[in-house]
Amino acid sequence: MYRKLLLTLFLSLLIGVLAACGGSSESDAGETESATDDGAEAEKTDGKVYTVATDNAYVPFEYLDEESGDLVGFDIDLITALAEEAGIEIEIETLEFAGIVAGLGSGKFDIGIAGMTITEERKENIDFTQPYYEAGLILAVTEENADEIQSIDDVDGKVVATRQGSTSQEYLEENTEATPEAFPEIVEAYQNVLAGRADAVLYDLPNVQYYSEKEAGGKLKTVGEKLTGEDYGIGFPKGSELRDKIDDALTTIKENGTYDDIYEKWFGERPEGTEK
Ligand code: GLN
Repeated sequence: MYRKLLLTLFLSLLIGVLAACGGSSESDAGETESATDDGAEAEKTDGKVYTVATDNAYVPFEYLDEESGDLVGFDIDLITALAEEAGIEIEIETLEFAGIVAGLGSGKFDIGIAGMTITEERKENIDFTQPYYEAGLILAVTEENADEIQSIDDVDGKVVATRQGSTSQEYLEENTEATPEAFPEIVEAYQNVLAGRADAVLYDLPNVQYYSEKEAGGKLKTVGEKLTGEDYGIGFPKGSELRDKIDDALTTIKENGTYDDIYEKWFGERPEGTEK
């Protein structure tokens, strides 16, 4: 018993030393935290630790839990389940959204999951899985502006807050005469609207809804129709072999109910067209 423990310790140390020697290039981000020291698990994986880039403030997909400080959310549960299904080891890194899209394009990260919409433009630099969530954009205002701004048709000449590098920023620039004000973090956009410094906010419907209900105490109100289809996909550097692995895993967990369980946990109901 004691000898076995010693042997395990020795092996973990050895693995640690080997990892330190081999992975000198970009391994300052706590790689050892998730590196496996469990023999059984190591057999299942390919021995590599893949970096997953995600956002840190995008409710309810990925955000820091106020009480525990842990990174939680639909995307976090999803990528954890997918990594397990695909038999790969991951470590998660958070950064602001625009950096995720850029970092995947340049191959800095192996995987990106951040409520990221699949767009033709992004597909030029990033490979995506099949869609895993269908969102859409929605406009929101405070009570004071609710008469004046009733839909996207009323935003011309108005300051509309949103987030840098997002599909909403692009929508405002291409389809309206509004003055977009894009912040690195979407929470800043909401705060500016609540403080009366911007007239409205345009962002992804599930995020706007969740933020208004849970964080803004009902002071933000959505107006008008949901705009455009926004299919979220998991992103990879172009040509990554991981894309098919994760895409297959996604097909499997959509079929076996794991996806539906995660969905229900975060959205309070099972996705349309599925039963328990
Ligand atoms: N779905 C939006 C986009 O892809 C926003 C994502 C986010 O802020 N995390 O641009």
